[in-house]
Amino acid sequence: MPDVIIVGGGISGAAAAYEIARAGHSVTLFEARSLAAMASGWTLGGVRQSGRDPAELPLAKAAVERWGGLDEELGATTGYRRRGNLRLARTEAEVEIIRELVVRQRELGLAIDYLPDNAAIRAIAPAIGPAILAASFCPGDGHADPIPTVRAFAAAAARYGATIREGTGVRALTRTGDTVTGIETSDREIVSAGRVILATGIHAPELLRPLGLDLPLRVKLVCVMQSVPLPPLFEQVFGVANADAAGRQEVDGRLRVTTGIGDWPHEPVSWTMDALAPRAADIAVLIERVTQVLPAAADAGIARLWGGLIDLTPDALPAIDAHTGLDGLIVAAGFSGHGFGIGPVTGEILADLALARQPRFDLTPFRLDRFLREPATDVALTLHG
Ligand SMILES: Cc1cc2nc3c(=O)[nH]c(=O)nc-3n(C[C@H](O)[C@H](O)[C@H](O)COP(=O)(O)OP(=O)(O)OC[C@H]3O[C@@H](n4cnc5c(N)ncnc54)[C@H](O)[C@@H]3O)c2cc1C
Repeated sequence: MPDVIIVGGGISGAAAAYEIARAGHSVTLFEARSLAAMASGWTLGGVRQSGRDPAELPLAKAAVERWGGLDEELGATTGYRRRGNLRLARTEAEVEIIRELVVRQRELGLAIDYLPDNAAIRAIAPAIGPAILAASFCPGDGHADPIPTVRAFAAAAARYGATIREGTGVRALTRTGDTVTGIETSDREIVSAGRVILATGIHAPELLRPLGLDLPLRVKLVCVMQSVPLPPLFEQVFGVANADAAGRQEVDGRLRVTTGIGDWPHEPVSWTMDALAPRAADIAVLIERVTQVLPAAADAGIARLWGGLIDLTPDALPAIDAHTGLDGLIVAAGFSGHGFGIGPVTGEILADLALARQPRFDLTPFRLDRFLREPATDVALTLHG
């Protein structure tokens, strides 16, 4: 019987498996599909502190420190580059949004600059188009290759003795009274453990509901377009003031660009790949927005298109919590479109909670029961990328 079971092999689950295994504890990770099969593979891959909610900023700052040493620590290439994040203003109204964002984020202690005109932006990123009026620039932000990163965490976890079971779905968590005791797989295998970490992204509510717990998620769709490899164009991650486009150039030269967050008219329980196919109209809008920001993108050959689902909570903050009312259960879901960058630190926190160590962060903003106390309001479109 493992000390800890993790359900979900995205970055949250894989990083937690690594931290728990290297602390000398036995851990088994169950992944229904393959590692990084969902958000952690669909993602843009931005590693961002700028634009973070104040509650999440300490995690994002700590994550940037971790990312810098991850390749060496995990013995694999994550593709991490710390080249900054540009958030661009295309209109006078967006200039004001960016100016305010810089003031607010500086007050929170983040090193972030205001670039007041197009020349200042193009001095940093010459490929940015002439129509862009102003930008914020956070030099400490960056990006990484998502699937290699998740695989690197899982491989390092396995080297420390973790068991990684891909292709094994979990249909239910088992309980005795007020204690979660393990899981039942889709093949009806029962596996017991002292702690269960639920890191199943959009699929968390369906496993929590039978336990009497509610995680109110709205599932949203982001369209992603990836080009063939191109010569170097820019090194930063770019976003825009109203978050309706973002992009980066991957280490191999491919552009990976995304739209804003749109509705997804399907049920999370039973989605198929067809339900993720981006609509042609959304892609047309994406191309228009991206080429305004990055004119050279108009000549890029398109290699792949996909849709990625976002587990959006009412306040766009995740639930990372062991105070669920059920002993042995730890929840980590609802990362609301920005859980990749903080993934290494999420893993550390989950290990702390599972191993009864004191986390080094204030986790109050991430309590699951806040949704019972606070009325569910729809947050404004949240930044991703
Ligand atoms: C298009 C897009 C762009 C994004 N851009 C960024 C960005 O630039 N920066 C950033 O920080 N974040 C970004 N995000 C968000 C980020 O990718 C996610 O917040 C993060 O990857 C969540 O990781 P996770 O491990 O919590 O969940 P997931 O990656 O969704 O992993 C959950 C895993 O659980 C598995 N699973 C589900 N149910 C079960 C079950 N019953 N049994 C077993 N396994 C199960 C799934 O197959 C999946 O692999 C983006 C997301 C999308 C979709």
